[in-house]
Amino acid sequence: MKGYKLIKPFYLEESESEDVSPSGNVSKVRLTKSLITLSDVLRYNGEIPTENVVLGSVGLGILNETTKNLFDLEKGKRTYIEPSRECGACYNCKKGDFNKCSDVQIAGEDYDGFLCDFAIANTDKLFVLPDSVSDTEALFINHISLAVSLFDKLNIQKGDYVSVIGANNFGNIFAQLLIYYQAVPIVMTLDEESVVSAKKSGIYYVLGPNDNWQKEVYAITGGRMTDKVAYIADCNIPVVKAFSLASFGGAIAFTGFSGKTGSVSFMQAVKKQLDVHCINNDSRYTAASINLIANKAINFANLKVNTCAYKSVPEVFKKLNEELEKTGKINETVVTLV
Ligand SMILES: [Zn+2]
Repeated sequence: MKGYKLIKPFYLEESESEDVSPSGNVSKVRLTKSLITLSDVLRYNGEIPTENVVLGSVGLGILNETTKNLFDLEKGKRTYIEPSRECGACYNCKKGDFNKCSDVQIAGEDYDGFLCDFAIANTDKLFVLPDSVSDTEALFINHISLAVSLFDKLNIQKGDYVSVIGANNFGNIFAQLLIYYQAVPIVMTLDEESVVSAKKSGIYYVLGPNDNWQKEVYAITGGRMTDKVAYIADCNIPVVKAFSLASFGGAIAFTGFSGKTGSVSFMQAVKKQLDVHCINNDSRYTAASINLIANKAINFANLKVNTCAYKSVPEVFKKLNEELEKTGKINETVVTLV
């Protein structure tokens, strides 16, 4: 088995590892596609401490060998692999409460990710993909499952106005999901390009770098401001802006994929007595996310996605890191592995 391993910051090496045969509850998948996300680039440049691990946040492929006989799961099927594992060691895991694991292990960070030829995974982490879900769409299952988790935690109801701070691919997907469930997203971004893609994706209220967000949100909501605010960690927008859009006693959720670090003043949140939530991925929603894609709840046509081939991965990481330094963002990149 071979893959691109991060040996130390800025240094990827194509390394071979011992071939593993599936046994017990473990299956083997021949990987065909992987997605490079901002988290991968932050691991690459050392901002997220990672060493000796194959990068690649998300992956899918063809089921190669399995010892289990689960619904529809058989050799040759196109399969998505959930990119996280419960630790098995924390208090909640030991109680069998795996959904509340306090130390979830993440692919490409705590164990080998998907920029490689084969993945070995527990069979309960595998999901057969329906034909109506394309490879590229499937690479965003993790985004959608985080969006569903956010929706659930903020307890969003039909007709709710929701401020969405940040309009990268995740922000865009979350806003589309809000519309699907008949809530009203107001998307805010400092990035002109994201304004255009959000509007093209069917989002009506999109505020850009030249708008007065507080004033516009006041006007849109008839002065009530928004009860629910989602702040996406990768957006490069001061958190204090997000607090200013919330109604008194409202709720704000922090989320995002990057794990970027930063400092926050909670003064306004305290004044307004906001409920503050921090949302991480929740593996319970993978199957629901696949169904949402199959039901065309999300329009992927206007997301910003690059593509590349496996052999150009080291070069691509170099370029993405330069892009990040220059612009503070990257385009998520689909890698064709075979
Ligand atoms: Zn645990």
